[in-house]
Amino acid sequence: MSDKMKTGRVCIDAELCTGCGHCKEVCPVDAIGGVPGSPQKIDEERCVMCGQCIHVCAAFGNGKKAGHDPLETQEPAFAAHYVGEVGQVLTALGQPHTLKVVQCAPAVRVALAEEFGLPFGSLTPGKLASALRAIGFDRVYDTNFAADVTIMEEGAELLFRLKAKENLPMFTSCCPAWVRYVEQAYPDLLGHLSSCKSPQQMAGALFKGHGADLNGVASNLVYSVAVMPCTCKAFEASRPEMESGGLRHVDHVITTRELARLIKHKGVEWGDLKETAFDAPFGEYTGAGNIFGNTGGVMEAALRTACESVTGKPLGEITFDAVRGGQGVRKATIVHEGLELTVAIVGGLAHVAPLLEAVRRGEADFDFLEVMCCPEGCISGGGQPKVLLPFNRPVALAQRKAALYAHDSELPVRKSHENPNIQKLYKEYLGEPLGHLSHELLHTDHVKKRGGVHE
Ligand code: SF4
Ligand code: SF4
Repeated sequence: MSDKMKTGRVCIDAELCTGCGHCKEVCPVDAIGGVPGSPQKIDEERCVMCGQCIHVCAAFGNGKKAGHDPLETQEPAFAAHYVGEVGQVLTALGQPHTLKVVQCAPAVRVALAEEFGLPFGSLTPGKLASALRAIGFDRVYDTNFAADVTIMEEGAELLFRLKAKENLPMFTSCCPAWVRYVEQAYPDLLGHLSSCKSPQQMAGALFKGHGADLNGVASNLVYSVAVMPCTCKAFEASRPEMESGGLRHVDHVITTRELARLIKHKGVEWGDLKETAFDAPFGEYTGAGNIFGNTGGVMEAALRTACESVTGKPLGEITFDAVRGGQGVRKATIVHEGLELTVAIVGGLAHVAPLLEAVRRGEADFDFLEVMCCPEGCISGGGQPKVLLPFNRPVALAQRKAALYAHDSELPVRKSHENPNIQKLYKEYLGEPLGHLSHELLHTDHVKKRGGVHE
C-alpha cells in the first residue's frame, strides 16, 4: 500500500503499544514484527488489512490520546487501530446538490446494535436504515442486493469454467484481503480468482449507473458510501480498476464501529429509531445474499442458484449444512440431479496455504473454493464492534452468525435468482449474467499489483 494513502489503514501506535505480542499471534500473514516488550510494527507491504490485530489489542491509551478529535469520530486510543474515512463522510454529508446513497453489508445489521448496548447478535436492519436516513443519506440501499447479483454472475462464471474446463478450481473474490493475499503470495494463481468484483463494488457500480438513471441525476452527482464490517474495503474501493467512466464505484467506506460513532456524533438516539425498510430497488434482498456475512455463506448462496440453474430442477432442501461452520477448512461434495460439485471453504486466511499448494501442484480435489480472510467470515471483520473481554469474543461471533442464519430462514425469498428485483435488473438493464454490460461494470481482471512478498 502506498505510504501516501492516509486513510483505510491499520496501524500500531508506538506510544501506546506495550509489545505484548497478541496482535502477532492473530495476524494471518506474519506482518507484525518487533522485539517482545517493545512497540510492534506492521509491514505494510505484507499486511492484508484484515484488522484482526485491532480486535485483540488491549493496550488502551487511558485517555492519553482519546479526544484529539473534537468530533470523536476517530478510533478510540488502542495501540492497534484503524485510520478510516469517517471524517470525509461527515464532510460530504453536509454538501448540497449530491444524491447521497449508502449500502450496508450483511454483517453490519447483526453487530451495530452492540455499540448501543444491545446483546451480541441483535438483528436490527430496520433501525439501521432509519439511522442512515437520520444522519443524512437520501437513499438507503443494501449490499445484500448486490450479493444476489454476485451470485448470478459468479454462478454463471463457475458453470462456464466447468464446461470449458478452464481455470479450475475457481476461487471466490468477495474478500479484498484474500484477493490481496493471492496477489502477494500466489500471483501464479490469479487466474483462478473469479473475475467478479465484490458485492460492495458491484453495488457502487449499479448505483452510479442504473441508480443514477432511476433517480434522475447525473452519475457524477451520486455520492456513494459503503458501511462495511471490514478494514480492507476502503483499500478495495481505492483500487484504480474499481471505477467506471472516471468515477469511483464507492467514494468512501466506513466500518460498523465508525457508523456507530457517526450516529452518536449526529445526536441520533438509537432507542428512538423506528423500523423502516431499505429503499427499492437496490434494497431488496434474499436469504442467500444475507448469509454472505458468514464463512460458507457465499458458497451456500452459490449452490442454491448453481444447482437449480444447471439442472433446471428445484432443490428439495436449500440449507447446505456441510458448508456451514467456523474457522478452518471444510470440504463437501454436493450432488443434485446428476450435477456433482466438490467445494472447499476456508474460514481464516491462515488456513489456506495447503489448499493453494495443492492447486499449484495440480492436485486440488475441489472445483470451487471460498476463502474469507477473517476467522468466521465478515461477522468477525476488523471493522466490527470490538469485544473487550476475550471470553466474550466466541460468544459474540456465535450470536452474530446465528442471527444471520435466522434472518435467512425467515425471509420470503431465499435464492438469489428468485429475487424479483434481480430478475427486473437483468431484464431492464444488464441483459444476462456475463453479458456485455456485466463485464463492463461488474467484472475485473485480477492483475498482479505487487507480488512475491511472502516468497
Ligand atoms: S491488519 Fe491483519 S494482516 Fe495487517 S497486521 Fe493486522 S492482523 Fe496482520
Ligand atoms: S472476511 Fe470480510 S471483513 Fe474480513 S477481510 Fe474479508 S471481506 Fe473484510
